[in-house]
Amino acid sequence: MSRGYYAQFAIDIDLKVETQPTGQIVGIDLGLKYFIADNKGNVEQSPQFYRKSEKQLNRANRKKSKKYDAKKKKAKQPQSTNYYKARERYARKHLRVSRQRKEYCKRVAHSVIQSNDLVAYEDLNVKGLVRHRHLAKSISDAGWSTFRSWLEYLGHKYGSVTVAVPPHNTSQNCSNCGEKVKKSLSTRTHVCPHCGFVEDRDVNAAINILKRGLSTVGHTGTYAWGDLPSWAVGASLLSNGESMNQESQCL
Ligand SMILES: [Zn+2]
Repeated sequence: MSRGYYAQFAIDIDLKVETQPTGQIVGIDLGLKYFIADNKGNVEQSPQFYRKSEKQLNRANRKKSKKYDAKKKKAKQPQSTNYYKARERYARKHLRVSRQRKEYCKRVAHSVIQSNDLVAYEDLNVKGLVRHRHLAKSISDAGWSTFRSWLEYLGHKYGSVTVAVPPHNTSQNCSNCGEKVKKSLSTRTHVCPHCGFVEDRDVNAAINILKRGLSTVGHTGTYAWGDLPSWAVGASLLSNGESMNQESQCL
């Protein structure tokens, strides 16, 4: 059963594997058209396991429903053997799809972690998104939350940094100049009227995600010397002596 995965998470959490830095960092955009797109322009196509097996699943579900007897339920009698068999078949088909999806998420997460020292991705509220009726099926099918769990687990295991960043405007903002360039979901290319930057929509988003990731990590030592962050020390070092006290007071 799929429960095995959860057990594995719990047991392996302290297991770390010694690896060499790859010298690579990546920002990834989770998409519907693609499963993921990164800031370098690599895309991993969406496998859409559920959509592909939807017909089969529906057929199995109909067969199951046909064999269901409401009168038996009322009389508190068990359903027919055929009903239980059909129910079993339907459940097995579902399980197969969910296993395929989990395996896929694990494989992609593994390859992302193995080839990067830092991975930035969007901190998406998947539950909130699934409430959108049109997107629901695709989003559930994409398995983003499973992917993210694997990413964070494998990142811990192999010593890669994983950063979830706020997703606001990652696809709207220009990754080159920072200006907001409004576009609808169907606009696939980012064309910036401010700086002329042209890039695939998802790649532009992935660059924004990586930038955001880099600006939120890597400042562990900032407050190590006390209350004054080192960039503020830098600011007062750059300014002339007169304003030094003033700046210190401001902070
Ligand atoms: Zn721009």
